[in-house]
Amino acid sequence: MSAAEPVVEGAAVDASAAATEAQRILAICNICGYCNGFCPVFDAARERPAPHRGDLSYLAHLCHACRNCLESCQYAPPHAFGVNVPRTLERLRWLDYADYVWPKPLARLMRAGMVLGSKADFALFLKLFLAMIVPLLMGFWWLPWSQLTQPALGPGGFYRIVPFPLMVCLGVATLGWALLSIGVSLVRFWRAIGGGRPAVRLTWSGLSAVLWDLASLRHLDGGGAGCTDSHSPLAPARRWLHQLLVLGFLCCFAATVVAAFWHHVLERVAPYPIGSLPVVLGLVGGLLMLASALGLWWLRRRTNPLALAPERKGGEISATLWLLAVVLSGLALLVWRGTSAMGLLLLAHLGFVYGFFLLLPASKFVHAGYRLLAVLRLRLEQRNIDADTSRRG
Ligand code: SF4
Ligand code: SF4
Repeated sequence: MSAAEPVVEGAAVDASAAATEAQRILAICNICGYCNGFCPVFDAARERPAPHRGDLSYLAHLCHACRNCLESCQYAPPHAFGVNVPRTLERLRWLDYADYVWPKPLARLMRAGMVLGSKADFALFLKLFLAMIVPLLMGFWWLPWSQLTQPALGPGGFYRIVPFPLMVCLGVATLGWALLSIGVSLVRFWRAIGGGRPAVRLTWSGLSAVLWDLASLRHLDGGGAGCTDSHSPLAPARRWLHQLLVLGFLCCFAATVVAAFWHHVLERVAPYPIGSLPVVLGLVGGLLMLASALGLWWLRRRTNPLALAPERKGGEISATLWLLAVVLSGLALLVWRGTSAMGLLLLAHLGFVYGFFLLLPASKFVHAGYRLLAVLRLRLEQRNIDADTSRRG
C-alpha cells in the first residue's frame, strides 16, 4: 500500500500491507537521514534496520505527528518513492489500538471508524454512545414528572433525582472498568515493544524526565520549529491545545476530589454556590476542555490531508463529539440548575459521563498511555546506551 494511493471508500485497512509500507519507507529514511534531528523516531528506526511488528508499534507511538518530516521530505508524494511517514505511522497507531485492546470484543469498536469513509461504522459509534444514556433516562420511568421538573437547588437537590450511593457506584464502576481495560491493553503493548529489556534501573530522575517529555510534548516540536498544522507556517498551537485539554481535565478531576472531600469530611452537600472551589474548578476545567477540543478540531481541518490517515476520521470525530457532549451537558447543568430543567440536565450529564468512561478504552483518548510507554522505552534505551558508552570509556 503506497501512501500516494487513493483512498477506496468502504475498504478495510490491511494491517499486513500497512506494516510492509512502514518497513519500506523507514528503510528509505534510514539511508536518507535528513530528518534525524526532528524527533527520536528516525534514530530509533536506524537501531532497528529490520523492524518486526513490535518495533513498528514502538516507532509509531514515539511519533507525535508533528508532520514536519512530510513537509521537508524530498521523496514525499508525488515523488515515485511516495514517502509519507506521518500518515504511515498514524495508520499503524490506529491498528495498534485495536490489536492490543482488552477485552478483545472491543477491537470491533476500535475498528469501527477505521473502515475508510464508512458511514455505517461511524453511526455505530454514535448509537452506542447514545445508548449509554438510556439507563439514566429510565429515570423518566420511575420518577414522577413533577419531581423531575421541579427546581431543586437546595442542599441535596441533585440526590433527590439520582440517589448519592447510586451516583457514586455507577461512577466508580464505569471509571474502574476504563482503568482496568486500558491498563491491560497497555501491558500488552509494553510487552510487544520489548518491555524493560534490556533491564535498566529506572531512577526518579529518569522517571521525571519521561513525565517532563510528556507534559511538555517535547516530541511534538518538530525539532524546535513547531508543529505543521497546515502547509505553513509551523506553529506550536497543537502543543498548547493538547496541554490546555489536559489542564482542563485535571481541573475537573480536582473539582470532583474537592467536592468529595466537602461531602464526606465537611458534610457540605451539593449543589455548591457559584463562587465555591468545586464549581470554579469545574467551570474553568469545562471551558478549557471546550476551547481546546474546538481548537484541535479547527487545526485538523487546516492540516495537509496528505499527512493524515483517512481511516482515523471516524474515531477522531466520535472522540470530539463525546467530549463535547460531556462538557456542554455539564456547563448547561451549571447554568440552568436553578430551573425546572435541572433534573433532565443532571440525568443527561451523568449519562454522558458514564458513557464516556465505558467507551474510553475503545476511544482515541488511549493514545496518551501508548505515547507515555513509548517515551519511557526511549528513555530506558538512552540510559542503556549512556551506560555502554561510559563502560567503554
Ligand atoms: S522523511 Fe524523507 S527526508 Fe525525512 S528521512 Fe525520510 S526520506 Fe529522508
Ligand atoms: S514526530 Fe514529526 S518528524 Fe517525527 S516521525 Fe512523527 S511526524 Fe515525522
